[in-house]
Amino acid sequence: MHELPITQNVLEIALRHAEEAGGGKITNIYLVVGRLSAVVDKSVQFYWDIISEDTPAQGARLHFRHTPIQLECLDCGTFFEPEEMTYICTACGGIHIRVAGGDELCLEAIDVEQEEAAPAESGSKHP
Ligand SMILES: [Zn+2]
Repeated sequence: MHELPITQNVLEIALRHAEEAGGGKITNIYLVVGRLSAVVDKSVQFYWDIISEDTPAQGARLHFRHTPIQLECLDCGTFFEPEEMTYICTACGGIHIRVAGGDELCLEAIDVEQEEAAPAESGSKHP
């Protein structure tokens, strides 16, 4: 269950950004999750609902974008996506493999609702 510290971290960053943006309510959180990070979306959402309570981020929707695992063969320099969890180069069969991507977890964007964003409209509204 490593999602709790991750979720706390995301919340901290999101709150800081929201404050910098003027302290509005956070409505959407966009996360990039590499497949190797083994983060379970549902667990993050579960913790999120608990720890975001009574913060400007309460009720924000979490969006997950999953990035594939990318490996680099150190023998021939090929980058490839493993079809299964096999760390063997698809080009030369080499086994000297480095993880080049897919283990990341980061906050890509957040939407902050400005409390006084829309300037007051003057004049009548057309129905
Ligand atoms: Zn290779």
